[in-house]
Amino acid sequence: MVSRRSFLRTGAALLTAGVWRSLPRPVRAGAPAIRLSWYPYELKLRHMFGVAGSSRTTTQGVQVMLEYEGTVGYGEASMPPYLGESAASVQEFLGRVDLAPFRDPFETEEILDYVDRIAENNAAAKASVDIALHDLVGKLIGRPWYRIWGYSAEKTPSTFYTIGIDTPEKVAEKTKEAPAFPILKVKLGRTPKEDREMVEAVRSATDRPFAVDANQGWTEKTAALDMIEWLADKGCVLVEQPMSKHRPDDIAWITARSPLPVMADESLQRLWDIPALSGVFSGINIKLMKCTGLREAKKMIDAARTLGMKVMIGCMTETSCAISAAAQLSPAVDWADLDGNLLIANDIFDGVGVSPEGKLLLSDRPGIGVVPKPPDGEGRS
Ligand code: MG
Repeated sequence: MVSRRSFLRTGAALLTAGVWRSLPRPVRAGAPAIRLSWYPYELKLRHMFGVAGSSRTTTQGVQVMLEYEGTVGYGEASMPPYLGESAASVQEFLGRVDLAPFRDPFETEEILDYVDRIAENNAAAKASVDIALHDLVGKLIGRPWYRIWGYSAEKTPSTFYTIGIDTPEKVAEKTKEAPAFPILKVKLGRTPKEDREMVEAVRSATDRPFAVDANQGWTEKTAALDMIEWLADKGCVLVEQPMSKHRPDDIAWITARSPLPVMADESLQRLWDIPALSGVFSGINIKLMKCTGLREAKKMIDAARTLGMKVMIGCMTETSCAISAAAQLSPAVDWADLDGNLLIANDIFDGVGVSPEGKLLLSDRPGIGVVPKPPDGEGRS
């Protein structure tokens, strides 16, 4: 037991020494708590999803809730296998999150700084807490986040609709079935012959413009540039991650000569990665599951704009929970690739809408703008 005076004196010394932030915080007796809870939820894909290097039919997810004085904020972690997180690792991380010292959910910077310091990685787990906290705080304010940030709902872009790697027949079929969004996104990154077959299969079904994601699949810079020039002639509007993230010099060579914007995805995770990408890529693809959530994603948009870079916001396969959170930022980006909720068969939220023309439709619902769907058989006509 120490006296208040000595406690304050020690505290001031520690503050000067820069270690104050790692001290346990005193809990105010009687103040309401912010309660964290979660459960694993496996996302089922409508179609087998193929990208360069892998394919799958499910994605592991964890649904998160933060409750404060009867108000509930929803969050989500989605873990495609290549990110190195799993439902188990996310739950293990969430088990380490102790919000007891925090009694004011509006201290978002304090709370999310603490969550970020718990471990080095675990970006999707961190994002689930970030999204739930934004939802909670937005609900306590009574406004959606795009309005709190000062964005206009009219400025939302249309979302891409992704066509995964498949046989030419299946690709043509999926393209015909795709909603009438203005821009498709085609997954390439195999051999030039296979990639051209994919694009011709899309072209056999539609003349709509499309974006290409090579997912680091191209291995030689001159062949990659040849492909990009061919794609530009075919109506492609941008190319994402043409080569390995370990080949920045080759990517910079391509970007300097490319007729299309070249966007970073795998080369980029968090805010601090952006400065090194200036001059290497035309722009960045921000995803909440890579960058720990909305707080950092907003900072990344501002940082990229400062460097004169293009911005797109993307997603993993996610329910409308994380998609609607990302959509709150969409009025500030050039392109949105937020179709992850449309690709799953078991969405449990109603959230951001999409017009028949693919435009993201933000609502006036507070927070991230979602409500849980009633369980099957309840409240449905
Ligand atoms: Mg990508």
